[in-house]
Amino acid sequence: MKTVVTARRLYTPVEEITNPWLVIEDGRITEISSRAAHAAPANASFVDFGDAALAPGFLDIHMHGGAGLDVMRASAAELPRLGQFLTSHGVAGYFATTVAAPLDVTCSALERLADAIEEKTKVNGGPPEARPLGIHLEGPFLSHKRRGVHPPEYLVEPTVPIFEKLWQAARGHVRMITIAPEIPGAMEVIAEAARRRICVSIGHSDAELPVARAAVQAGARHATHTFNAMRPLDHRNPGIIGEVLSDDTMTADIIVDGIHVSPEVVKVFLQAKGPERAVLITDAISATGMPDGRYQLGPIQVDVKDGKATAGDSLAGSVLTMDRAVRNVTRFSNWTLAQAVRAATLNPAQAVGLSAKYGKLAAGVEANFVVLSSAGEVVKTVVGGRGL
Ligand SMILES: [Zn+2]
Repeated sequence: MKTVVTARRLYTPVEEITNPWLVIEDGRITEISSRAAHAAPANASFVDFGDAALAPGFLDIHMHGGAGLDVMRASAAELPRLGQFLTSHGVAGYFATTVAAPLDVTCSALERLADAIEEKTKVNGGPPEARPLGIHLEGPFLSHKRRGVHPPEYLVEPTVPIFEKLWQAARGHVRMITIAPEIPGAMEVIAEAARRRICVSIGHSDAELPVARAAVQAGARHATHTFNAMRPLDHRNPGIIGEVLSDDTMTADIIVDGIHVSPEVVKVFLQAKGPERAVLITDAISATGMPDGRYQLGPIQVDVKDGKATAGDSLAGSVLTMDRAVRNVTRFSNWTLAQAVRAATLNPAQAVGLSAKYGKLAAGVEANFVVLSSAGEVVKTVVGGRGL
């Protein structure tokens, strides 16, 4: 079946097309052009979104859960409910993100997540669901000093055999790893993970600048929730953040909920990384979309009150949604909605090596897109053509 979609504008997101004409067949985009070139469609259903904008479905590469579900604890049968919740916030794909936990618990979670990732996408029927596209290992190779809420008893010194065990449990679906480069053994694991085309991201780290730079030389190319769980920036001793902000080969992500990083520092970050290398993440936990209360983040108990998730004195992930992160970027900086959208779509896709298939609107890719009002509110999300 063929469907033609029109709206006021479309962000590819590199280009902006006014009065776009988007053709979808069998769950894929087959044509993007201008409405002016076409008469009313024949033999196709037609959906006009009026003044709204079409953008690629958001990609969240650091997400622990939502709608009451934690990705390390949920069964493969429960994950579609999380996927449906995420589409209500514009997300089409995500990386299920782990936290430090006992190794056997992590391995069984990875096996379940691999099942969910390998499940075939349904093209027709049913509500749209954001899909788990890979696994992000946040831990166990983190710095004790900058562990945040990751339990100290489950942090592990990196070795290739432990990494291999996690990789095997995940059946090769690990696509991203957050690692502190200064801990013994880290550089070897960074090099091995990079060799397997994993996005190696430095974070939860107390590294000095030269160590962070050596990690990049070893194969790291990204940074995890910049500023949070990192040695703070000092202008004479810039540390890891100095490397992350000044190295133009690196991409980096940030939590733009207005709680984890102040709006002014978000603006500095966006200026430093620019519209091509800044990446938005949510770091969202199971409490996202739920009332205040007590929730689980892997093995960690988290209290959520007034939009703030904490365990003890530390922030424990967020209840941020990607659509709000995008809107916050336009509030905290002078970036346009199109630039903010890019930081939630193409930029994360490029950072993790998925930009051939995700994070953009182009002929040939799966029809994953979000319909946004001019204020950036989600009107509708379509995943694999489902949801129109
Ligand atoms: Zn996290």
